[in-house]
Amino acid sequence: MTAVVTDPAEAGAPLAAEAARFASFGWMRGTSGNLSVVTDRDPLRLAVTASGLDKSELTPADVVFVDGDGAPVDGGNPSAEAALHARVVRLTGAGAVVHVHTVASVAMARRHPQGIVLRDLEMLKGLGLPDHEQEVLLPVIANSQDMGVLGDRLEAAREPRVPAVVVAGHGLYVWGRDPRRARHHTEVVEWLLELELTV
Ligand SMILES: [Zn+2]
Repeated sequence: MTAVVTDPAEAGAPLAAEAARFASFGWMRGTSGNLSVVTDRDPLRLAVTASGLDKSELTPADVVFVDGDGAPVDGGNPSAEAALHARVVRLTGAGAVVHVHTVASVAMARRHPQGIVLRDLEMLKGLGLPDHEQEVLLPVIANSQDMGVLGDRLEAAREPRVPAVVVAGHGLYVWGRDPRRARHHTEVVEWLLELELTV
C-alpha cells in the first residue's frame, strides 16, 4: 500500500482542513484530539497535527512528522498520542487516523465498558460493512497515559470489521484509507453513538 501523501509538504493543508471541520462540530474542544496521515510506508512516516494548538486555527505548518513509534523525525514536539496513531497504522494499514474527544463516545463507554453493540442500522454500511451484517461490536478499551499499554489494549480488543475504537473516559480513535475516508468513518461512528445515547 502506498503512502496517502507522497509529498510531506502537502500533508499539513488537508490535516488543518479536517481539524477545522471536526472542531466546528465541537469534537476537538480545548486543543484536544489529533489527526494524522501517512506520508511514507517504508520507513513508516506520519504527519500528525501539532499538540497544544486550537484545532480550529491550524495552518499547514502545524504538523509534526513522526516515525513508526511516534517519535519525531524532524524535531518538533508531537503529542504522546502520536504513538497510538502510528500503532493503529501499523496494525490496520490505514492511511489516516482521527482522534477526537466527543461527548457521545465518553458517555456511551461509561454505559457500556465492555463494548457497544450496534445492530440493524443502515448507517453501518458507512463503515464498509456489507448489507447482511446486522450486528457488530464497537470495542471500548480502558484509558491509559502509557501509549504502549493503550496500544496493546487496542490491538487486543480491535474488531477487524470496525475501523474504530472507543477509549473510556477519553474519546474515539477512527481510521481509514485516507483522510476523507477516515472522516467519513468518524462521522458515521459518532452518528451511531449519538443515536444509541438517545434510545
Ligand atoms: Zn486524546
